[in-house]
Amino acid sequence: MREILFLTPVCMHNIWGGSKLREEFGYQVEGNDVGECWGISAHPEGDGTVRDGIYKGKKLSEMWREHPEMFGNLQYDRYPLLTKIIDAQDDLSIQVHPDDAYAMEKENGSLGKTECWYIMDCPEGATLVIGHNARTEEELKTMVAEGKWKELIREVPIHRGDFIQIDPGTVHAIKAHTLILETQQNSAITYRLYDYGRLQNGKERELHIDKSLDVITVPAKGMEDCMKSTDSLPENRLNLMYACEKYNVFKLDVRGSASLKQEYPFLAASVLEGAGYVDGKAVHKGDHFILSAGYGNANLTGDMSLILSTVAGAGNR
Ligand code: ZN
Repeated sequence: MREILFLTPVCMHNIWGGSKLREEFGYQVEGNDVGECWGISAHPEGDGTVRDGIYKGKKLSEMWREHPEMFGNLQYDRYPLLTKIIDAQDDLSIQVHPDDAYAMEKENGSLGKTECWYIMDCPEGATLVIGHNARTEEELKTMVAEGKWKELIREVPIHRGDFIQIDPGTVHAIKAHTLILETQQNSAITYRLYDYGRLQNGKERELHIDKSLDVITVPAKGMEDCMKSTDSLPENRLNLMYACEKYNVFKLDVRGSASLKQEYPFLAASVLEGAGYVDGKAVHKGDHFILSAGYGNANLTGDMSLILSTVAGAGNR
């Protein structure tokens, strides 16, 4: 079995969205409030469709159910990851996600959410929110109750090419004019901690303070443990950026010709910029595809940057 599944993504409308995903990436979606492209997703709120070949028209969730051999016969009950491109034209609300155990109990058997970001683009001097400055649970509760958001929230400078790991329990948000690729568990469970006091149709969006306080890790992890630069990674090879129980995420910069060995249960890939070929099939910026289990050697040519992801072989939750 040696397949490349190209996927037609599902785009989402968000109040903080824009038009870049259509204009720069060519996704077929109307409106100037497009915030997210769910590029590789089998989530019920946005299930991608196979674009061509013998499986044309099948949903990724159907492929997972009907062809487990293409995904290494993993034990997960659903495609375990979700790859998104997010274009924020406004600050996103500050959020936190539960882990699997909390979500299973409080959110109807859902998965928790571990996620990571690759900064595709951001303005000079950009920042984002990751972590907080409370030293104890008590201090966290007090600062939240008293609305001391400026003191509480940890805001850090970012640059194009930064990679950021967000464990469950980590307070986080991207800010306006930041473009990221997010690799995450297949889950949409989010608790909103703070929305900058903004109004939507005359009122504030719902906050989830109690659940947020339940799940926020105190103290927050140090920055050196959640952020790294991907500058000066070697070209034409799969560079592992992060490995954890939930996913392995790689960066690959093709300059000319690269050969990689697909020896994982599956390898999901997104082209962030440039264009080229994967074993003779043309690909360009904005394309998302999956190399099946047992694919073996893949030959990539051209001038392009990709982020790739898979899960650890065992796959038992
Ligand atoms: Zn998140």
